[in-house]
Amino acid sequence: MIYDPWQYPDNPFDYTSLVNYKGGIGKIPDKKAGTKVAIIGAGCAGLCAAWELMKIGLHPVIYESDKNLDGTPRIGGRAFTWRFPGDQSALAELGAMRIPPVHKTTTGYMDRFGIDYSQPFPDPLIVPTTLYFKGKKYFIPLGGSLPGPVKNSIHAWEKFIDPMVKKMATIWDNPYLRTLEWQNFVEQFKNKSFYQVLCEHGLSRDEIDLFGSMGLGTGGFNSMFPISFLEIFRLMVCKWEVDQRIVKGGVSRIPESFWEQNRLCRHWGKMNIKTLNNGQPLGAVARIHTPDAFDEKIKITDINGNTRSYEAVILTCSHRALETDIKVSRNTFSDAVWSAIQDIHMTRSGKVFIRTREAFWKNLDPRSTLNCTITDEAIRGTYLFDFDDTPSGVICLSYTWEDSATKLHGLDEKERLDKSLSILKTIYGRDLISDQMAEFKTIFWEHKKGYHGAFKLNYPGQYEDQKALFLQTKPKSMASHNGVFLSGESTSWAGGWIEGALHSGLDAAMAVIGKLQGELHMV
Ligand SMILES: Cc1cc2nc3c(=O)[nH]c(=O)nc-3n(C[C@H](O)[C@H](O)[C@H](O)COP(=O)(O)OP(=O)(O)OC[C@H]3O[C@@H](n4cnc5c(N)ncnc54)[C@H](O)[C@@H]3O)c2cc1C
Repeated sequence: MIYDPWQYPDNPFDYTSLVNYKGGIGKIPDKKAGTKVAIIGAGCAGLCAAWELMKIGLHPVIYESDKNLDGTPRIGGRAFTWRFPGDQSALAELGAMRIPPVHKTTTGYMDRFGIDYSQPFPDPLIVPTTLYFKGKKYFIPLGGSLPGPVKNSIHAWEKFIDPMVKKMATIWDNPYLRTLEWQNFVEQFKNKSFYQVLCEHGLSRDEIDLFGSMGLGTGGFNSMFPISFLEIFRLMVCKWEVDQRIVKGGVSRIPESFWEQNRLCRHWGKMNIKTLNNGQPLGAVARIHTPDAFDEKIKITDINGNTRSYEAVILTCSHRALETDIKVSRNTFSDAVWSAIQDIHMTRSGKVFIRTREAFWKNLDPRSTLNCTITDEAIRGTYLFDFDDTPSGVICLSYTWEDSATKLHGLDEKERLDKSLSILKTIYGRDLISDQMAEFKTIFWEHKKGYHGAFKLNYPGQYEDQKALFLQTKPKSMASHNGVFLSGESTSWAGGWIEGALHSGLDAAMAVIGKLQGELHMV
């Protein structure tokens, strides 16, 4: 069952309807038309907020620290499609890469922007798959079934998770019961790790081991065993792992469309964010000074020392950057929000990609060539991509999270590549790749300046921190709010997903409307 359209049990309302509202998400007083609002970060959250605020006649001013190879500001943040220099049609998704259709806010915007997401993501079992576990190799052809031991471990997991998911599904259409039941689950699981819950629900050590390595549809999840079980349970209840899609032309097209596409706006007429920002964002923010008096303006200083003042600011950069890169006055946030900023867990994640001259595996018997590979070896997951407009293929040789990502940290880029190739050589018994390789690219998000990690996933005990982040855009009194609103995926319930980033952008945009004494539609 795919739930539609209210997807998250924690959310207070349906964002899908909100963004479909014809006149925009709200209305500001006439005298506020053209007011500048600072938006820090040109990722999905910041540009979604900007897109909606521009619609109702405000002037979003974008700041961005990341840069393209040529030194120009890079739009997109963690929606980062790498075009290989030797063939710009060969794409590597360095950040987000899979979109489940149940993410209705994301797909709604993609529909509006004319972005095709009809093609299934080449996840394990969606394409021929090789499993390699404890030195043993198993090949699963298309439509084939999992080998016995793996099937048993997944069966043990389903035996305990399915009844709970079904319980939520049966009451999903009743908002009152859904919220009540979800809160019961929250209380039950918020302080427990994924691993603890597996143990408590009778999975044997061997089953946990195998399930963790081969796991949940898209790959092994044992790197996530220390994470709060609630994060995993939400994923299962909301079906975010089901029927995932590729974004044709690259995931970056989502933030780029917010940036470039025209929209009919109040006050501006036909306008786009790029034009309002004279073609490019301002540079990195170095300092945010929030006055004690709520009716004074917030001052933002960029790395070039230029200071500008704003009535409202939306901050979408990684919450870690607020402790390390940007000087932020303490009075900007409550103590509860500061604790959350300091504590909430950012996962580590790395990817190693190559471009091959041809998508050579396409025309070969999958038994005799490379295919989607899931393993307990250090590379963890290998995924294959081909394209309509180029013979080149792209292979994500390795996609890792948490401790698995750290294993490759000590190596330089070339060593990571060589390690990945040598592991695949061991799995397949010979080198299937090297003579096809044209270029490579690796990324580790915790190393990348300004990001400090890949995405937020709470540890046990951080539910209250998450709540503090979520609620800071919904203050009791907007009139006396200082006007600085935290946004970005880490403030949403759906850490690790563009959907969560978009919701957080909408939350912050609504908060700005409130701060400027406007009215909200729908909510
Ligand atoms: C490895 C990986 C895999 C993922 N897989 C998926 C997936 O399959 N599907 C999915 O939906 N989502 C996935 N995600 C999550 C998704 O990419 C994010 O949730 C989303 O892109 C976050 O958007 P954001 O706007 O909140 O943050 P960001 O995109 O990080 O935007 C914040 C921006 O702030 C900028 N910034 C930082 N410091 C400053 C400063 N001082 N001044 C100005 N600007 C600054 C940054 O450069 C960045 O551009 C993945 C993420 C990663 C890293």
